[in-house]
Amino acid sequence: MKGKLYILSGPSGAGKGTVCKQLIKERPDIVLSISMTTRPPRADEKNGVNYFFTDKQSFLKIKEEGGFLECAGHFDNYYGTPRAFVVDNLEKGRDVLLEIEPVGALQVKAQMPESVLIFLTAPSKDDLIARLRSRGSETEETIAKRMAKAETELSQMDKYDYVVLNDTVENAVKKIEKIMGGK
Ligand code: 5GP
Repeated sequence: MKGKLYILSGPSGAGKGTVCKQLIKERPDIVLSISMTTRPPRADEKNGVNYFFTDKQSFLKIKEEGGFLECAGHFDNYYGTPRAFVVDNLEKGRDVLLEIEPVGALQVKAQMPESVLIFLTAPSKDDLIARLRSRGSETEETIAKRMAKAETELSQMDKYDYVVLNDTVENAVKKIEKIMGGK
């Protein structure tokens, strides 16, 4: 592969989405992979922009056909990275960024050891909880489930190539840009 594959992962509430958006603004040369999900779109989300939204049956068919580089169940929904898009861009020499949860991230690392695995984490558990609450879309029950999952994810931090503390978005983006090297 001529391009480099970067994987930004970490627990929910660490701020992966926000950091990723800002990173892409700073580094428009990096191609962001659009995932497929069975989760229904949120009010401000568009098909083909934020995700490719699909149903469970179609998702599982693509999975069976080997169409995903990785996929994982995340609470009640499935998420997957379309394989062809990533491989095509890497072959063309473009650097690609995935923003995915840790189960999928470790699947990619196992297949492509040369990929760069970055763990984004909030300064503390209280920060993670505060960020989950501030979304407004999460119930206390969901927050508790996400925190339990976060505990497992935090214990796997040592499997990552880099750990980036998301104290401020600006700092986190700067640190990731440094990992990526200049362009
Ligand atoms: P959300 O539903 O809030 O957009 O995303 C939930 C979680 O799924 C986030 O942690 C996000 O990083 C992760 N995610 C998004 N796309 C993918 C994907 O293609 N594969 C995996 N494994 N996780 C994903």
